[in-house]
Amino acid sequence: MTRIDPISRALHRQAGQHGPVILMYHAVIPGQTVPAWPWAVSMQQFRDQLDFLATEGYQTPTMAELAAAPTKTWQGRTAVITFDDGYADNLAACEELQRRGMRATWFIVAGSVGQPPRWPDDGRPAGRLLNADELREMQENGMEIGSHTVNHVRLTELDDVSLMQELAHSKAMLEDMLDNPVGSFAYPYGDWDARCVQAAQQAGYAAACTTEAGWALRDQTPYQLRRLTIFNTDTPGRFTRKLSFGSHDVRWRDLTRYALRRLRGI
Ligand SMILES: [Zn+2]
Repeated sequence: MTRIDPISRALHRQAGQHGPVILMYHAVIPGQTVPAWPWAVSMQQFRDQLDFLATEGYQTPTMAELAAAPTKTWQGRTAVITFDDGYADNLAACEELQRRGMRATWFIVAGSVGQPPRWPDDGRPAGRLLNADELREMQENGMEIGSHTVNHVRLTELDDVSLMQELAHSKAMLEDMLDNPVGSFAYPYGDWDARCVQAAQQAGYAAACTTEAGWALRDQTPYQLRRLTIFNTDTPGRFTRKLSFGSHDVRWRDLTRYALRRLRGI
């Protein structure tokens, strides 16, 4: 990643002081062209971001490891890399991680494993999702497999019984498939409320991710872990500023406003 502007690079020197961040990826499309779907990044962009994290000394534990350890034990720069939905193109992304000795956590939709997604299409890339053999192989290579429900539904819209089914069945299905405990969860569409948090806990998960931006552990509960969404519009400078500020609002005009507020003491 050679195109980081000097100001973003200087701002990043302080990164890591506020604790871990969790990055959220979806599809990773081969090549260099910027994909049409905002949540898909190109493989070139993904590689550049991994190289930056590696060069800057980020450790990349899994979600399970982050949730298991108290905040104070995360010294230095920590970025948990997560993927939602489990697109088949993530297999190549997984190889890039392995090549750098990095790890990540995948949130898998238990009812669509190895098939095209069954939930409504919003312009995402066509194709199937990761299958059971691929998920097992990823797990053997040190990656964590978590749950993203059975049907990729909005949990706040479900009655109590269906809510518990989405949480508990997906966990059991994945555990059977992987022959391993599944302790991490991500709320589809970032849709959650206090009832969902309680249900995730009751279903036996150790941790759950939202899509709210911020430092991962800011809410001091493992069931509302914050994540930074990585968009394909993130330039190298913008990516580093997200890491530095734990925020999506890192356009220069946002940062200028922030700096002025700080100067005025408000
Ligand atoms: Zn999803």
